[in-house]
Amino acid sequence: MIRTALSDFVTLIFPQVCLACEESLARGEDHICTGCRAQFPYTDYHKLPPSENPLARKFWGKLPVRYSLSYLRFLRRGRVQHLLHQLKYQGQRDIGRVLGRWYGAELADHGLATDFDLIVPVPLHPRKLAKRGYNQSDTFAEGLSLSLEVPWSAATLQRTEYTTSQTQKNRAERWQNVAEVFEVAKPADVADKRILLVDDVLTTGATLEACAAALLAAGCREVSIATIACAEN
Ligand SMILES: [Zn+2]
Repeated sequence: MIRTALSDFVTLIFPQVCLACEESLARGEDHICTGCRAQFPYTDYHKLPPSENPLARKFWGKLPVRYSLSYLRFLRRGRVQHLLHQLKYQGQRDIGRVLGRWYGAELADHGLATDFDLIVPVPLHPRKLAKRGYNQSDTFAEGLSLSLEVPWSAATLQRTEYTTSQTQKNRAERWQNVAEVFEVAKPADVADKRILLVDDVLTTGATLEACAAALLAAGCREVSIATIACAEN
C-alpha cells in the first residue's frame, strides 16, 4: 500500500511516458502503453511458411537461414522508428529487454524455444560501444533469452574493423564493407550449435548476412535471425 502510494507520488513528479507515443503510462504499463502494444505493426513472420515470408526471401540464394524473424515492421516517422531511436540514441536500453521478453514469449508459445541453442547479438565496434555505453542488440538478446530460456553471449561475435558511414555506398560495396569485419572469437563456442542471431533493425540485411556467414564458417549447425524491426522492401 505504502509502496503503491510512493510509486504514484514518484509518477506524479516524474511522469512516466510511453516510449513509443509519449503519452502518460497507466499503472502496470511497462515502458510502452497498451494502446501502442495493440496497434504495433507486428510481422507475425513466425506464423508464415518460409515461401511466404518476405524476410526469408532476402536471404535466398545467399545463405541458408532457418527462421527469418522480426517482431515489428519498420515504418518511417512512425512509433516503431521513435521507439528504435529511443533505444539507440536516448539511452533507453530497457526497451530492447522489454521487446525481447514479449517477442520471446510469443515465439515460445509458437514452439520455437527448443529450436535454438545460443542467442548471439550483432556486435557494435568497441569504439561505438564505449561511446554509447551499451549495445542495443545485447538488450534485445537478453530479453529473448529470458523468455526463450536459451543462453545468450555477447562475446561470440567480434567486430574487427571500424565501418565508415554506409550511406554513400551501393549494396555491393556495403556488403564488402561489412563482410570482413565480423569474426567468431572461439569457433568451439558455436560448433554444431543452432544459433539465433539478433539485431535491432534490418534494412538491407547486409550486416546480418556477414555475421551469419562468419558463424557458418566457424562451424555452427544452422543460423536463424531475429530483429526488433525490419523494412519490408
Ligand atoms: Zn504508447
